[in-house]
Amino acid sequence: MDRRSFLKISAIGSAAIAATSVLPGCASGSSKAGKKACEVVPLNISFQEGIAPGETLAEKLDFMENLGVVGFEPGGRGLKGRVKDIQDALKGRNIKVSAICAGFDGFILAEDPAVKNQFDTTMREIIEAAGELGSTGVIMVPAFNGQKPCLPHTMETRDYLCEELHKLGEFAKSCGTTVILEPLNRGECFYMRLVADGAAIARDAKSEGVKVMGDFWHMQEETSDYGAFMSAGKQYLQHVHIASRGNRKMPGENGEVDNYVEGFKALQQLGYDKYVSFECGCGGDRATLVTAAVNLLRAQWEEAKGCCKE
Ligand code: MG
Repeated sequence: MDRRSFLKISAIGSAAIAATSVLPGCASGSSKAGKKACEVVPLNISFQEGIAPGETLAEKLDFMENLGVVGFEPGGRGLKGRVKDIQDALKGRNIKVSAICAGFDGFILAEDPAVKNQFDTTMREIIEAAGELGSTGVIMVPAFNGQKPCLPHTMETRDYLCEELHKLGEFAKSCGTTVILEPLNRGECFYMRLVADGAAIARDAKSEGVKVMGDFWHMQEETSDYGAFMSAGKQYLQHVHIASRGNRKMPGENGEVDNYVEGFKALQQLGYDKYVSFECGCGGDRATLVTAAVNLLRAQWEEAKGCCKE
């Protein structure tokens, strides 16, 4: 398919998707239906591998299980060789692989074909492993500001990105998983800095295997946490990252600024059933701060339910 015909099809597809978008939950206009939807949405907490205290993966998983954490987000580097170990470690536990965090070489918008090829090869290997592990997807950033030489930030590059993501998304779908775009902010990735922008690119990629996520830490340029998640909608929102909002440590370490209630309201109204995953550092005793952070999020999740009260 050449770029022109792809664009034409994208435009038609986008209009059709926009026309059929439905927001469940509180936004449905039915307060009873909305209340019910909010009450049944659980907070599925996930940890990246470095979050829980413990020397071994088994020790970390024990800690997580005791805390009621139900998701595990490993890094993608070397994942192919770890599939069986991770499957064995999760056997008999109430913890599933939530998402896979990057880990590929190269980048999708690389100007150098050899670097782009590195991305294609390593990303596909991680996607295959992610499918075997039942992951919701593999997280990727199209290009960090420091990754050069990079294709210029033009409309033509956006079209190219959508075409490449379409191929990658279809491959991910065939593996039973997805590719999850992670918008950052202009300090890190000028190319994609708002959740709505990532969602629009996912839409224009025209593959069910392309999704978007929101990271409370990176969402500094959003005017509203609520609006950011709602702009992606349940159709595209596949994962959420969380950290404290002052210095990216454990939620709660930065006091009052660590407020996620507005974002949580949106997740509940959307009927978001994926994971909220910790991606952050730790400024003190890990076991204490991790436990406090989980308790804080659960309290704020409860507070957010107020959005559905009549
Ligand atoms: Mg993140």
